[in-house]
Amino acid sequence: MGIMSRRTRRPQPARPTPASCPCGLPAAYDDCCGRLHRGQARATTAETLMRSRYSAFAVGDEAYLLRSHHPTTRPPGAGLDPGVRWVRLEILGTTEGSAFHTTGTVEFRAHYTEGGRAGSLHENSRFVRHEGEWVYLDGVTGD
Ligand SMILES: [Zn+2]
Repeated sequence: MGIMSRRTRRPQPARPTPASCPCGLPAAYDDCCGRLHRGQARATTAETLMRSRYSAFAVGDEAYLLRSHHPTTRPPGAGLDPGVRWVRLEILGTTEGSAFHTTGTVEFRAHYTEGGRAGSLHENSRFVRHEGEWVYLDGVTGD
């Protein structure tokens, strides 16, 4: 989930902090991806980074999306779309990406609603370590 390139950037409305984490783990946002967004914790696996990036899309944290993107592939803006509401993340599979790896992939389906219609984004994302931290490199989107 890199550039949501369909639309130009618009100012983001303030969104309420979700009580449960958008990434789907059974934890409050503040104790889960919120810690990564605030810079209080690091993603130890590619999957954790993927989840935190999904949550950043859900809560509209553009700064986190940009800093968790590899500098060589980082877009000028995260392309957040205020008309899209991210509702659920399904992790379909992972390769490597553990604390002992320097590369990894995460295949996922991200569910959203837009204008009252449900849709989903299927992507196989590549992650690498950059200066010790997991970052998003790029992804191939499917159906
Ligand atoms: Zn989370």
